[in-house]
Amino acid sequence: MPSYRCHKLETSLHFLPKDIKFCCSCAEGPGISLENFNKINKKAIEKEKVKYINSLKNGEIPKQCQGCNEYKEVFGPEKNFFEALFEKKKKYPVSYIIVDHYKQCDCNCIYCSQKIIYKGEVKNYSLLPLIKQLYANNMIDNNNLKVEFQGGNISCLNEFDLLLEEFKKHNCTNFAILTNGIKYMPQLENLSNNPESFVCVSLDCGTKETFQKIKNVDAFEQTIENIKKLRDNSNLSLMLKYIVIKGINDNPEELKSFLNISKDLIKRGCILLEIDFRDTLMNHYNNFKVPNHYKELFNLAENYCKENNINFSIPDYTKKILLGK
Ligand code: SF4
Ligand code: SF4
Repeated sequence: MPSYRCHKLETSLHFLPKDIKFCCSCAEGPGISLENFNKINKKAIEKEKVKYINSLKNGEIPKQCQGCNEYKEVFGPEKNFFEALFEKKKKYPVSYIIVDHYKQCDCNCIYCSQKIIYKGEVKNYSLLPLIKQLYANNMIDNNNLKVEFQGGNISCLNEFDLLLEEFKKHNCTNFAILTNGIKYMPQLENLSNNPESFVCVSLDCGTKETFQKIKNVDAFEQTIENIKKLRDNSNLSLMLKYIVIKGINDNPEELKSFLNISKDLIKRGCILLEIDFRDTLMNHYNNFKVPNHYKELFNLAENYCKENNINFSIPDYTKKILLGK
């Protein structure tokens, strides 16, 4: 009987407007509904997590995971080790928290998962008390915690500074900050000395017109100026992202313009290309067939980065999709 494991399932808590998922998937993926927005239900979280871990261990792929390419088959010694861990009823401490429980934002991207999934029907709740309870309940792996701020946008999240302070108070130094960069946030300048921490801005374009089409706001120049300011005032690693969107920016001219701008903006960090989440992560039951011209765009970006000595990255799941796996 095959046995599967998903590292994300074992380590993550992803706070969304209505539920807590056990991985980075916001649309599908296993999790529990948030019934009480003021209280962490430790028992329910641990019980549900174990249920999914057990299904994978027994070779059954839960409906919520079908089509996802994060779980892996385990063999030989790893399988034995995994089974022994499971038998010991290990509690799976949380080492990856995704802050994604709010949708306030100062732009309106066409691919925004918050807006597509929740359509404005969400309650605004404060995450800080729940994070404090995770610490109080010993649910966090303090030595290895990584925190990712997704969105909305952090500049519109009133408790951003308080959350950051709470994590830092418990010695967390590993932060991934996703922001649209429209508003300058000086607090990012001293975010962390941890080389793994980074700020990611999804620029997705190299022109003002395309920025407007994607984000529905006129803030291209302002965003570029803010990125330059952060580059000059900090040592932070910067990831500049280009999400390839059908019929909007899936052409070499736009991509080249983005690459030329990015070359100047990145002091430390990388360029990352990925495919519109609406075709992939948000719909992983459908196998997205990558058009040939997407592959050419990925090659173009990779070659440009090589020639210009810029780090280039593609998320693992995108690599698999490109390879048709
Ligand atoms: S949906 Fe994917 S990432 Fe999430 S728990 Fe299932 S296998 Fe893991
Ligand atoms: S910046 Fe993020 S939260 Fe804001 S609209 Fe775009 S995708 Fe949504």
